Amino acid sequence: MRAAYGILLLSFGALILRAEHSSPSGSGRVAAGERHTSVSSGTIARALSAITPSRSRDDEDRAARRRRIRSAQAGTYITDILAERDSSLSRWPDRHGVPLTVWIQPTANNIDDFTPNFVARVRQAFLEWSALNLPVQFTFVDDSTDADIPVVWIDRFKEPISGRTRWSRDDDWWITDANITLAVHHSSGEVLDEDSMRAMALHEIGHLLGLDHTRDTMSVMAPKVRVRQLSDADRATARLVYALPAGPLR
Ligand SMILES: [Zn+2]
Repeated sequence: MRAAYGILLLSFGALILRAEHSSPSGSGRVAAGERHTSVSSGTIARALSAITPSRSRDDEDRAARRRRIRSAQAGTYITDILAERDSSLSRWPDRHGVPLTVWIQPTANNIDDFTPNFVARVRQAFLEWSALNLPVQFTFVDDSTDADIPVVWIDRFKEPISGRTRWSRDDDWWITDANITLAVHHSSGEVLDEDSMRAMALHEIGHLLGLDHTRDTMSVMAPKVRVRQLSDADRATARLVYALPAGPLR
């Protein structure tokens, strides 16, 4: 039944992309200063140390923030995110005009079916998010050692997914670093077409920004990506998240 369902969808050209993200668990206290992370990476330059999280809004009490969300949640899936995240929001600190640097692995000679067009499509995905004019913008760099956000390719995941984002946050729930891995092939072996690669990147960048999954299947942040561009709800939700401080809401 499951196989027949998949074949039916394929026949309509609506190839579903499965995505997965890894994020720090929301529960459990850790020692002060310890980074909440699901990945260890010492090779990537950290965010500019001169940029400090805008903590002034942390004083806004949680009840007030919850009221603010209630008044602004129409047209967003913020409640889905809060349900996934145990009522906490994580996002990057405001960058004050300093973009995050993105390095997209330019070649992958050891991966069959890889095309540089994939790189161009992932760039398009970053630019589509950048067009929202959030307090976090992106710029591309040629040297991975300069990058805040590396994007790397693998042949395929063992699991039935096509992309993975790992990110870390500090004790105050501000995202500190992140990386994205994209697969050239579905775990079944089929190569992703370029539009699917772009959609997969849109989804993973959504995670990178702090978004989580929505039940809205017409949004790119659905767990199984069916659409090929950001929805109005994707945009509205990201704008709302970036109008709020990071942190728990209860
Ligand atoms: Zn996801």
